[in-house]
Amino acid sequence: MSQEQGITPRATDFSAWYNDAVMRAELADYSPVRGCMVIRPNGYAIWELMQGALDGMFKETGHRNAYFPLFIPQSFLEKEAEHVEGFAPEVATVTRAGGKDLEEPLVVRPTSETIIYDSFAKWIHSYRDLPLLINQWANIVRWEMRTRLFLRTTEFLWQEGHTAHATDEDAEREARRMLGVYRRFDEEWMAMPVLTGVKTDSEKFAGALRTYAVEALMQDNKSIQAGTSHHLGQNFARAFGVQFQTAEGGLDYAWNTSWGVSTRLVGGLVMTHGDDVGIVCPPRLAPVQVVVVPIYRSDEERAAVGAAAGEAARVLRAAGLRVELDVREGMKPGAKYYEWEGRGVPLRLEVGPKDVARGQVFAARRTGGKAPIPMAGLAEGVKAALDEIQAGLYEAARARREAATRRGVSKDELVEMMAGPGGFAYGGYCGGVECETAIKDATKATVRVLPDEEFRSSPAPARCVWCGKPSVIEAVGAKAY
Ligand SMILES: [Zn+2]
Repeated sequence: MSQEQGITPRATDFSAWYNDAVMRAELADYSPVRGCMVIRPNGYAIWELMQGALDGMFKETGHRNAYFPLFIPQSFLEKEAEHVEGFAPEVATVTRAGGKDLEEPLVVRPTSETIIYDSFAKWIHSYRDLPLLINQWANIVRWEMRTRLFLRTTEFLWQEGHTAHATDEDAEREARRMLGVYRRFDEEWMAMPVLTGVKTDSEKFAGALRTYAVEALMQDNKSIQAGTSHHLGQNFARAFGVQFQTAEGGLDYAWNTSWGVSTRLVGGLVMTHGDDVGIVCPPRLAPVQVVVVPIYRSDEERAAVGAAAGEAARVLRAAGLRVELDVREGMKPGAKYYEWEGRGVPLRLEVGPKDVARGQVFAARRTGGKAPIPMAGLAEGVKAALDEIQAGLYEAARARREAATRRGVSKDELVEMMAGPGGFAYGGYCGGVECETAIKDATKATVRVLPDEEFRSSPAPARCVWCGKPSVIEAVGAKAY
């Protein structure tokens, strides 16, 4: 990709478009280490805003941050049979350090259940110690052969919540509550519509009782998991001896949950809102929400325009907005526009001599549309425009998803849909793993979730899409990232 060529249109090659859009916005770069990526300042700034929003919500719901080691004794992973089986193929192991072979190899964390529950066993003694609500912000390593910037990399950043509870019901409530937090973040911050539900047994987290997930449809009609929350039951508590004295004086194992989202969400943001010009940041997650560009020809104009542009930037910053004032010399306004558009800045304010005379700025939305905003009441006008852009992005994404959703599909329709446009296919499901596997083999689609009640079809489908036996639950299938 070069500036002259522009970026690959989405319709031509969505995956090439994605890489071009990420590179043009300077969100990330390739690294000399295969499978790894460099997150550049523009990309990291989006992640920081995501972190800030999520961290606030975790703390509001009573969680505290902590940090556990990057290295996990190999024997820890082996204590939970399903867990080690699920993660073994993608684990990186340190066998030599300090100039000699290690007595016990150390695994580079692929997830931290084991090392965290080892600590929980030391910290939890009585029902009074519960619930224990911990979150960790960390990097994770899972060996990947085929990598995509943000979407699939050997090392990535995430948060992982880990909690312990006295009862099954408490753990269930927590797993559900955090799924709700992710949904709220996805919808209200990312402007990304989602559906929620439970994973089938074959798609659940290795070692969990149940896995809940939030799924969002990207513009190429493939689904991305945008948050996952696991009810771990007592599996890990048994493996690590997390026991507590109950209120009645007995002894019981704690009930655990874990839940997480990662830098993958940055990729989700790009694929939800981007257009053929590049990325589009929803205002609430835009590192730069407003860019102010002065436009002038003479030195005289420059003084007046510069003062007005500076004043506009000052007023907006004072109102708490993230503002960039672009006064770079020797660069035409058009070139500046091109750069800020590629970075997905939602609102550009142009200030020319005529605008100064009229006591206004000219607002150009990244999503289309231009209108003046009076300098008197500038902050209110800009905030209203940003709110409209945020809401508009959500609505556009929701409309795209609905257009790519089909309910009550037959076997033939499912095959046709997955061979063609893709999208969310709702259909009846007998609950048999044979049908799930056969669907995956034939269509490359997987069961994304067994949707929660509010997303289910009415009436419920009567027959399994694949085998025609009575349906026990509705399923949503899609190809996925
Ligand atoms: Zn079936």
